Amino acid sequence: MSANTLTISEIFHSIQGEGSFAGWPCTFIRLAGCGHGCAGCDTGYAEKKGVELEREEIMQRALTFQAPFIEITGGEPLLQPAVYPLMKLLCDLDQKVLLETGGFISVEKVDKRVHKIIDIKPPSSGVAQHNNPDNIRLALEAEPPHRHTFEFKIVIAGKEDYEWATSLLREHRLTESFTIMMGVSFGKLDPAELAEWILRDRLRARLQLQLHKYLWDPSRRGV
Ligand code: SF4
Repeated sequence: MSANTLTISEIFHSIQGEGSFAGWPCTFIRLAGCGHGCAGCDTGYAEKKGVELEREEIMQRALTFQAPFIEITGGEPLLQPAVYPLMKLLCDLDQKVLLETGGFISVEKVDKRVHKIIDIKPPSSGVAQHNNPDNIRLALEAEPPHRHTFEFKIVIAGKEDYEWATSLLREHRLTESFTIMMGVSFGKLDPAELAEWILRDRLRARLQLQLHKYLWDPSRRGV
């Protein structure tokens, strides 16, 4: 396996279902491999073996779709060292690159032009202790316009998660400077309930519905 090879689960074109770019057509490059074992992971299939592809081929396939955004996702994309030059080269080609990461690995080495959507895992994930504090620090230290390339996402499964998340957001004053996307763990919490909590607490967070799960069968891959 060369330094320019990545293990890929799938490359596909769909509607962005999450984050502040939800609704836009987007090309997804899903890297295989993770191993964090979050409870409620909805891309468990990407944890398994993928196919090895050369960077040039990955870029060629992704660019074919001519989508306004290219998202690098997983699995956990930052586990593969070759992902960093891939993101940089896509940025050099004037592509708008989004990165979706589980939040366990520091985003320090990610090209500054990449829009980083960083998960903050709450207690129900079973892995909250592995959230990398470096990512909040990097976001808080970033100057504009780089600061605007950080976004945080928290998937809430119940009241305990919500209270944990609001306390963390308050502690770091994250809602004052960053887009905070708050979604529900599909089938575990009614989005209307989360909406009520956000409104009650005057929380500056955006309610996120995973659009692709409403548009298509929630268990379908490649959407
Ligand atoms: S980090 Fe993401 S891909 Fe990995 S187990 Fe957790 S939810 Fe699944």
